Amino acid sequence: MQEQRLPTFDDVIAAAQRINHHINKTPVLTSRTADTDFGAKIFFKCENFQRIGAFKFRGAMNALAQLNDVQRAAGVVAYSSGNHAQGVALSAKLLGIPATIIMPHDAPAAKKAATKGYGGNVIEYNRYTEDREEIGQALAKEKGLTLIPPYDHPHVIAGQGTVAKELFEEVGELDALFVCLGGGGLLAGSALSARHLSPNCKIYGVEPDAGNDGQLSFQKGEIVHIDTPQTIADGAQIQHLGQYTFSIIKEKVDDILTVPDEELINSMRFFAERMKMIVEPTGCLGFTAARMLKKELKGKRIGVIISGGNIDMARYSQLLAGI
Ligand SMILES: *Cc1c(COP(=O)(O)O)cnc(C)c1O
Repeated sequence: MQEQRLPTFDDVIAAAQRINHHINKTPVLTSRTADTDFGAKIFFKCENFQRIGAFKFRGAMNALAQLNDVQRAAGVVAYSSGNHAQGVALSAKLLGIPATIIMPHDAPAAKKAATKGYGGNVIEYNRYTEDREEIGQALAKEKGLTLIPPYDHPHVIAGQGTVAKELFEEVGELDALFVCLGGGGLLAGSALSARHLSPNCKIYGVEPDAGNDGQLSFQKGEIVHIDTPQTIADGAQIQHLGQYTFSIIKEKVDDILTVPDEELINSMRFFAERMKMIVEPTGCLGFTAARMLKKELKGKRIGVIISGGNIDMARYSQLLAGI
């Protein structure tokens, strides 16, 4: 998937047209409890209700829908143990493209089953002795498969940008937008939409404290690499931002904030008790940062992207029970 140009808001518009008949137009929910507590108006864009349970379906679909006939016939490959795998597997199934997903042999059985259920051909590797990028590249070369990256590709970023586009189109301009940050596809795409549809909106990326590579990169002005962070926010266990995502983030984002894991659990509990919905720890990053900035947000109109809701139920109960 070679393409050198950074995506723009026009690419987000084109992505929306391309994927609109496949995706769920996810709801924007509000909570009187949260509004009263903040003394503000908060709009939650709920991608936990997207197909596959997370926004990743949008970027994957936008990338796969642009492959040519030769690429489609040969198939695609992705490496991921999480939501990107399911996004690629489902997009491929809907478009009739064969998909190979490289997953760690010890990935949760539920995730492997979900990926296989979407028709993905799962290849397992040993994460302690083998390198998934090598396996992916070897497969891509040998069988002519197209590698679909989880965040650092213009088509993926443009697809993820449709989340914030829908939010602004539904609720109008905002004072601040809080976005979960892993490799930066969602944040970069959100920034493209925000800068066009709500030019004065402050845009914040939010990472777990332990995985603050994005914050360090933002401060330093160049991509900083860290070791795989220990955090319950598994969608943000990323060692570094991408070239495309960082170029956009550096230019268009106002700041990158970090939050502790314990506070992610408090947000999960709030979503369960007050809004009756399951949100995975990574999906709580944005709201958690907003809670920590509550005083400064008084009287404002705030957007929060809830990025996903995929979590094993046993794990979910344990986290809420404080085990
Ligand atoms: C992938 C993912 C993220 C991080 O997205 P990036 O585009 O990598 O920054 C956040 N939340 C969920 C639920 C995810 O699956």
